[in-house]
Amino acid sequence: MEVQVVHKVLKANDDLAAMVRAKFEEYGIVGLNLISAPGSGKTSLIETTLSHLKAEFRFGVIEGDPDTTRDAERVAKFGVPVTQINTAGGCHLEANLVWRTLDNFNLHNLQIIIIENVGNLVCPVGFDLGETKRIAVVSVPEGHDKPIKYPKLFRTADLTILNKIDLLPYIDFDEAQFTADIKALNPDMRIIRMSCRTGEGVEEWLAWIKGLVV
Ligand code: MG
Ligand code: ZN
Repeated sequence: MEVQVVHKVLKANDDLAAMVRAKFEEYGIVGLNLISAPGSGKTSLIETTLSHLKAEFRFGVIEGDPDTTRDAERVAKFGVPVTQINTAGGCHLEANLVWRTLDNFNLHNLQIIIIENVGNLVCPVGFDLGETKRIAVVSVPEGHDKPIKYPKLFRTADLTILNKIDLLPYIDFDEAQFTADIKALNPDMRIIRMSCRTGEGVEEWLAWIKGLVV
């Protein structure tokens, strides 16, 4: 019985995700779903992205958090439209939340919508949001075993960002193992090594985004 209920929830989510995806396609919008553990640097990644590209492309941002509008306030400083979804303790975003949030944006004016999912490596993975690309963000202090422990994220993501690589000298992070584990799950996965603090890898990330916009 329980399995059936879960199945129904996911089916409803998939239907709404398809609606979001169709809307993105209709308006020529690239939707990016950032999935990571709390504290991996998703919001800093968004800030870095906006600081470099907001003059070139028209962005919107959807911030998902259990509580507070803190991330949305950080992003709003860049003068881009941002909507905060507070999940009231909920541990992931679902497509219906994104679908309703799209009403807050003038979609004609947007080229890229970045969705910052709730920090969590488990259930956000099970909920398609209608995104164009799914991005896994892992930071060095979390340890190199995240891909092997949370394989579904790395099987379904289109890109992995290894963030905070400026901390590699201070932490026992086995990058060879990290890479090998990801490649075993998803041989075609691109991994971008990045530090928003030093700027390393940022150009590669920006080029990847630019390549998505038609
Ligand atoms: Mg954040
Ligand atoms: Zn959840």
